[in-house]
Order: sequence, then structure tokens, then C-alpha cells
Amino acid sequence: MRLRLPLVALVALALTAGIAQATIRPVRAADGPLLARKATYEEKVAESVAQRLTRKHVNVRCGPLGVPGARWPNGVSGITLFGPSGPAGYALLLPEVCAQLISFRSAPGAYDPRACTDSECLFAVEKAAFAIQTVTHESYHLLGCMNEAKVECYGMQSIWYAATKLGASVEVAQTLARFYLTEMYSHRRTSTPAYWSAECRDGGTYDLRPSSHSWPS
Ligand SMILES: [Zn+2]
Repeated sequence: MRLRLPLVALVALALTAGIAQATIRPVRAADGPLLARKATYEEKVAESVAQRLTRKHVNVRCGPLGVPGARWPNGVSGITLFGPSGPAGYALLLPEVCAQLISFRSAPGAYDPRACTDSECLFAVEKAAFAIQTVTHESYHLLGCMNEAKVECYGMQSIWYAATKLGASVEVAQTLARFYLTEMYSHRRTSTPAYWSAECRDGGTYDLRPSSHSWPS
């Protein structure tokens, strides 16, 4: 366990060097077939998380994002489509994000960073946290928010909730959210500053639960 921090730092640097969650883009005619087909099992799992967060009927599809820089796990991992009057009700996730959500749901207890003893395990936890964050992040875009720093912060505060909806215990879910904060979010200040804010903290402007001092859950 003593190795944990240096290992985490190395892994985190590898993953966050080019991390960008996703921005938003207009719906295009070429999106038609993907948006029209029925949701797969993986897509239904992602939709269930997004719908619980947004309390809206939203559609999630796993496939190409249609933007440069889409790459797993160190590029754009999800995108929300916007029409002329706001969100079109669709988010697209890279297939790897969807597969990761299924893996997490099949064994949430295996993604507890406290149990990791090597970098391979920590990398698996990072990918799970990043996949869950992709869904929570896109969920706030689906609600119409376009400010990336705010969306990223709100998404991080919802990791624990999404993780519990995927079957994790509250303890593992909160640990995973804390892991995202310390090992991934903190790097955004320099790696992707548009996704970072000094107000994303306990008591900050972006704190969704100002009366609670548990952070970021
Ligand atoms: Zn975004």
C-alpha cells in the first residue's frame, strides 16, 4: 500500500495527459441511423443512469462521436447533441465507455482503489471512474448546461450516485468519487483548464450540496 500514491500518480498522469470529457455539437443528418435504432443492453444501462440523474427521458447511444479527438481512455469519451433550441435529448458515448459500465455493474466491488496493489488495478479503477464520470457529465449537458467546468464539477459530485445505481455500495461509490477528485480531476487544472474550476470544492459556487461537508459525494 505504500506504493499506492506514486503508482497512482504515474497512472493518473498517463490517463489525464490528454483527457477531455466531451463538448457538445449540433445534431447532423448523419446521426440519423444511430439515433433511430433501438437501444442495446449497454445503452439501456447508460440511459438508466442518465435518466435517474436528469429525471428526464433521455437517449444514449454507444458509437462514434463524430468529433476529432474522440479516443479511449485519454480523449473525448462522450458528447451531447444540441438542436437549435437546446439539448436534442441524445448523448453519444464511445463503445468502450459502455463496455466499462457493464464491467463495473458486473462486479462493482472489484473497483475499490483501496484494494489495489499494482498499477494495472489502479488503471482499471481509473477507467471505471472515467466511464461513470462520462455519463454523469453528459447528463448535465442533457439538462442544457453548456459550461464545461460546471458540468464537470456537477458530474463529479454525481459519481457516487451513479455508481450506487450500477450496484456499488455507498462506501465504494464514495471512494471512487474521491479517487476521481484526487487522481483525475486535480490534474485538469493544468491539463484541461476549461474543465476545472476553483469553485468546484466543498462550499464553492458549484457545490450541489452546500449544507453537506462530505465532498465530492
Ligand atoms: Zn462537456
